Amino acid sequence: MAKVKPVDAMPALVERLLAELGEDPSREGLRSTPARVTRALRELTDGYDTDVAEIFAGAVFDQDYDEMVLVRDIPFYSLCEHHMLPFFGACHVGYLPKGRVVGLSKIPRLVEAFAHRLQLQERMTKEVAEALSDAVEPRGVGVVVEARHLCMEMRGVQKTGGQLITSCMLGTFRRDARTRAEFLELVRRA
Ligand SMILES: [Zn+2]
Repeated sequence: MAKVKPVDAMPALVERLLAELGEDPSREGLRSTPARVTRALRELTDGYDTDVAEIFAGAVFDQDYDEMVLVRDIPFYSLCEHHMLPFFGACHVGYLPKGRVVGLSKIPRLVEAFAHRLQLQERMTKEVAEALSDAVEPRGVGVVVEARHLCMEMRGVQKTGGQLITSCMLGTFRRDARTRAEFLELVRRA
């Protein structure tokens, strides 16, 4: 039997939302907006459909390299789960291999898989660290995320700017102050 694609309920919801905001959804400029908003939201939340194991499949290699590996300044864009407004910035991911390394292009994909969901920055930071740790089984992992939150910057009387910085340290990055210091030093180096 052919699989029937269910009708997407989102465009009608967006149209309702536009009317609730006091807009006329039928006016020229808004006519395609429900479909566009739907496509945008689906794209920005497509991380729910990403299988993290699939990202790493065939990309973890045996390698006799035991120095720190760092991927810095990975740009990311996410939506906060409290307001569904963007938070965005840079993610820095480091790990200390234990006989295995991962293809470097996989780390930005991992970040995107977790960023493209409704998120809390703190949770995203931890999820990236734990997923990398599970996949590569390194000696340790460090993740630092620096981000601006538009729900803080655009709303209310307290227009607080600035960045929120979160970090998650696992294994040697947690236990060994020198490893952690080396990682943070590499992250900070402009
Ligand atoms: Zn928020």
